[in-house]
Amino acid sequence: MSRLVVVANRVPDPREGGATAGGLAVAMKDALAKRDSLWFGWSGKTAEETGTEAAQVRHGSTTYATIDLGHDDYRHYYQGFSNAALWPVLHYRLGIARFDRRDYGGYTRTNAAFAAALAPLLRPDDTIWIHDFHLFLMAAELRRLGCRQRIGFFLHVPFPPRSVFNGLPHAAQLLEGLASMDAIGVQTEDDAENLRGALIAGGMGEAAMRVGAFAIGIDAAGFASLAARRVGSKDVVRLRDSLAGRSLAIGVDRLDYTKGLPQRIAGFGAMLERFPRHRGKITFLQVAPVSRGDVAQYRTLRRELDEGVGRINGQMAEPDWAPIRYITRAVARPTIAGFMRVARIGLVTPLRDGMNLVAKEFVAAQDPVDPGVLVLSRFAGAAVELDGALVVNPLDPDDIAEALDVAMDMPADERLDRWSRMWATVRANTAAAWCRRFLSALEGHEAVAEAGSSLEETPKRRRAKRAEA
Ligand code: ADP
Repeated sequence: MSRLVVVANRVPDPREGGATAGGLAVAMKDALAKRDSLWFGWSGKTAEETGTEAAQVRHGSTTYATIDLGHDDYRHYYQGFSNAALWPVLHYRLGIARFDRRDYGGYTRTNAAFAAALAPLLRPDDTIWIHDFHLFLMAAELRRLGCRQRIGFFLHVPFPPRSVFNGLPHAAQLLEGLASMDAIGVQTEDDAENLRGALIAGGMGEAAMRVGAFAIGIDAAGFASLAARRVGSKDVVRLRDSLAGRSLAIGVDRLDYTKGLPQRIAGFGAMLERFPRHRGKITFLQVAPVSRGDVAQYRTLRRELDEGVGRINGQMAEPDWAPIRYITRAVARPTIAGFMRVARIGLVTPLRDGMNLVAKEFVAAQDPVDPGVLVLSRFAGAAVELDGALVVNPLDPDDIAEALDVAMDMPADERLDRWSRMWATVRANTAAAWCRRFLSALEGHEAVAEAGSSLEETPKRRRAKRAEA
C-alpha cells in the first residue's frame, strides 16, 4: 500500500492520543496506524522566518514533519487571510471579513513554503491528503514543483453560495488552487453544490465533477464509553450535586462568532421570560474557552457575551439559583463528556458550521436508558444526519426558547425514540468510516460524487429503505 501523506495547518503532538487528541487526529488515527504515513504542517511555533526544512519525529508508523512560521507569515497567512478573511466568508459572513493585500501575499507565500518544504520528503507513489481552508493553494504549488502524486483535499468548514464566495478578493485564484486537486471533499451536499457552482461559473466544470460530500463523524463508541466512565468522576459528581435536582442544559463551543453564542444566551433568557414555570428548574452551563483571542472580532464577542450573561443572571437569578453558568477556561475533554451525559438538553446552535462535532458527541454521550434532547441549528452540517434533534433557526431566540420549552417537557419515550435514531446514525458514520470513504474515492476505487454520498446510514437513506420495504 502506498504511503499516506496528511497535510494540515497544524500537526498533532505525536504523544497525544485517544481522548485528548483533536478531531482530525482522531479521524485519521486508524488510517495512519495501518500504513506508512507522514503528517506535515506548522509546528505551532513562530520564528524569525518560515522554515524551509521540516523537523521530523517518528512515532509508530507515522513521521511527523513540521516547520515554524515566520512572524510575518503568522500575522498575514494565519491571523490575516485564513482567520480574518477566509473563515468569516466561508461561514457566510462577508460583512465582517477583513481584506488586506499583504494578508493574501502571506497566504500565497506560506502555501508555497509548505509545498517547497514538503516536496523533498515525497515519494513518487505517495497519496497526499490536504486539509482545510488554510491550504487552498498548496496542490497548485506542489504541481508547479513537478509533483505528480495523487492529491486530495477536504474542506472542514462550509462552502457558501458563489455570490458570497466571489466577494472574496482573489476568489478565482483560490478556486483554481482547488481545481488542482484530484478529489475534493466537503461536509454536505449543499456545500458540494455551492462549490460545484463556483467552479462551473469559473470555467472549471471538469474539476466540479471531482467534488463530493463526505460527512465527518466521531469515534462514537470511544466517546460513549468515555462519557459513561466519567459520569462517576469527581468533577461530574460535583456538577450534578450543585444542580440540586434541576435539569442541566449544556453548550460546548470554542468562543467563536460562528457559534451563535449571543443568540443562544438570548434564547435561553427568552425561554425563562416566556415560560416562567421553568424558572428555577433548569441551569444552563456554557463552556466556551477563548480561541483566537488576538483577532479583534473575538474580543468584541467576548464583551457581548459577558454582558448578555450578566444581564440575564442579574434579572432572573434567585439567592439559590443562577440561570446561566459561563466558563471561558478550557475544560478537559473527558470531563466535557461526563457533563454531556448528565445534561437533559444539549444546545448546539451555530449560525453556520461545516459539521459540528459537539452535536454528535452529545448524542454519543447520552445514557441509553434516559437520554437527553439535542436542540440543533438547521445551519450545522450535522442537521442533515441528526433527524431526531429539535431543529431551530439559531438567529431566532424565540425559536430556541420554544425548543427549550418542548425539550423540558418531552416524555421519556419520545426522548428515547429521537435519540435512538440519532445514535444509529452517529454510530454508523464514524470518523474512521469517513476517512476510509474519502481515501477510497481519492485512490480511485470509486467516483468521488458517488463515494461521497455513500453514508452508511442517513435519515434520507433510512426513509428510502422504509419506502422500498
Ligand atoms: P470547531 O471545529 O469549529 O471548533 P466542532 O464542534 O466541529 O467545532 O469541533 C470542536 C471539537 O472541540 C469537539 O471535539 C469538541 O468536543 C471540542 N471542544 C469544543 N469546545 C470545547 C470546550 N469548551 N472544551 C473542550 N472541548 C471542546
